[in-house]
Amino acid sequence: MFTCRNQSCGAAWELSDVVIKNEGQGLLFRCPMCGARNYVTRHQTKEGETTYEQVTEIPPYGKR
Ligand SMILES: [Zn+2]
Repeated sequence: MFTCRNQSCGAAWELSDVVIKNEGQGLLFRCPMCGARNYVTRHQTKEGETTYEQVTEIPPYGKR
């Protein structure tokens, strides 16, 4: 479950609701409601399953 970091939005999304992609500044998804960038990190379990964790702090590479 992800929560949009745009405070005026704050919508919650399942992984299946969003598209995770790399726009050159790291993995992120765009909130389907407001379009805000929400950064995530990818983890791989020993079973080979890919999971995503939301990054709650704005990464340094997001400053442009
Ligand atoms: Zn949003």
